[in-house]
Amino acid sequence: MKQAAVEVDLNKRLGNVRVDIPSNHTGSASITIQNLGFGTVESIIFSAKAYDGFNRQISVEGNDIFEFKIDGICIEANAERMYIVDLPDKSIVRMELTEKMISYYGGTVFEYKTGNILKFNADLLENNDEEKEVRELFSSKTMVDAVCLPKKYKGYWMCACKTVNADEHKKCTGCNTAMNVMFDINKLLVIGQNSKKQQVVMTRERVKRNVQGKFWKTIKLVVVIALLCGISNWIW
Ligand SMILES: [Zn+2]
Repeated sequence: MKQAAVEVDLNKRLGNVRVDIPSNHTGSASITIQNLGFGTVESIIFSAKAYDGFNRQISVEGNDIFEFKIDGICIEANAERMYIVDLPDKSIVRMELTEKMISYYGGTVFEYKTGNILKFNADLLENNDEEKEVRELFSSKTMVDAVCLPKKYKGYWMCACKTVNADEHKKCTGCNTAMNVMFDINKLLVIGQNSKKQQVVMTRERVKRNVQGKFWKTIKLVVVIALLCGISNWIW
């Protein structure tokens, strides 16, 4: 397990916003958007910056920072969707999007004005055998590919998917898993030190198997020693 600071903008309502522009410059792009669980999104206005192949900023209607709108969409809470959109200029090879306004079904409109960035100390799961079993435990009980351990902070909790939620959200805004389910799985884990003095996290099942394995190894050793002593007494 590795501890690392994770910066989270708690004012953001969208996650994993990604723009993929094909190299043949057809004038279209695919945009991937994750809705962080605050209702069903029907339209989004992004604040956009665009660049050409020489990394020069492209103005749209005279503006270096312009509005880019996607509407007629339907992204349910916690869902991730991909849309094909027309670009405002065919020479755009890169576009950066920041959420500006989000309209939800039912008429609610959210306006992103400024970030509220906080740092959280996360317990990241590592790519080793012990922690592979831990990740499998999370995926067997939830739909989450766990990347860290769920953790509580003052006023917030971090889900195993690394989304930080305010305490009033009893379900993760990133993956929709209930907070108590996440922390119940945490109870099935043991955190200890391995021989390299690193913190490791293991399932209680694995710890039990290790202890039982060591017990039977010791029994076998005692039996072998007893047999050898018996044979040597018989010879002499
Ligand atoms: Zn989550």
